[in-house]
Amino acid sequence: MSTADKPRVDVPHLYDKYGRAITDLRIAITDRCNYRCVYCRTGNDGAQYPELPFADYLRMARVFVSLGIEKIRLTGGEPLLRGGIIAFVRELSQMRTLSGKKLDLAITTNGHLLAEMAQPLKDAGLTRVTVSMDAVDADKFARITRVPNGYESVRAGIREAQRVGLDPVKVNCVLLRGFNEDQIVEFGKFARDENVVVRFIEFMPLEEDRVWSPEVVVTLNEIVRTMAQFMPLVETEHARSETARRYKFADGIGEIGIIAPVSQPFCGQCSRIRLTSDGKIRTCLFSVIEHDLYQRMRRGDDDAQLADYIRGVVIQKEARHHIGESDFIPASRTMVHIGG
Ligand code: SAM
Repeated sequence: MSTADKPRVDVPHLYDKYGRAITDLRIAITDRCNYRCVYCRTGNDGAQYPELPFADYLRMARVFVSLGIEKIRLTGGEPLLRGGIIAFVRELSQMRTLSGKKLDLAITTNGHLLAEMAQPLKDAGLTRVTVSMDAVDADKFARITRVPNGYESVRAGIREAQRVGLDPVKVNCVLLRGFNEDQIVEFGKFARDENVVVRFIEFMPLEEDRVWSPEVVVTLNEIVRTMAQFMPLVETEHARSETARRYKFADGIGEIGIIAPVSQPFCGQCSRIRLTSDGKIRTCLFSVIEHDLYQRMRRGDDDAQLADYIRGVVIQKEARHHIGESDFIPASRTMVHIGG
């Protein structure tokens, strides 16, 4: 191989046909969840898709990392429900990116079990954590999650994650008109008092009960306007591939992010790809088809063949989502079974 033919090690090797570099992998390690959030689940159904042994996720992750993945986020379902997650994080933390760096290793969790797991996760090599919390009021929190007495557990989880040095600790809040739009200012105060980055997420049509409509979405502009009643937000720089628009309060204290896939889509900068708990690749949250990586493994493909398959799948990544448009087709899975 001449020098010119050799793959460069300082650039990601996974590109889609629109020239987007794919550097972030999200792995759902279960689709079970101990919460039944009104905007996500019906509240009745449990897991629908199988979970794979961690050894299988590890092999897949290794192949992805060999192709240029730099960040892995574990999600679900609720990832902390899965026994063996600490050892899995430890194994992932041994992997190195193409440029020889440690992976950026994150978890998205509802935080219910985080107080007891933050230290072992940190010790195993987890870099940071995002906790989903949709109200800063215990009763409202219980109405949204449909689980009594979860609020204090989640608050304790956030505090413990900060104490052990998971950095940054982010708190994600999905806003729904009629449920929690009155929490915007309260979350602003929470971000400042607790020194966490609060990120509001616009509600997307990915729920099990079909409750989404444009009217239910609390948009970025509305959030910024509402927060100004407490204190104005000033937008700051954000990285190109970052999903959130970042804001500081006018007095410089506290950070807010707004993820606005509905009112201000960022598909053109998307760097993400997802692996479901049963080993299927999804190139977009809104994909209507999946790509069965696990089946390839089971039939005996070697790592080079899996890498070729992944490259071929990534090429097909969708240009953008079609939320709110007349040609919108619902995704083939809902959020809890994809991994947010
Ligand atoms: N159980 C973990 C948790 O609660 O963070 C991880 C899985 S959960 C599906 C991941 C994230 O997706 C959560 O922040 C949740 O609020 C968000 N989410 C779920 N359904 C959503 C929807 N329809 N639109 C926007 N965000 C959603």
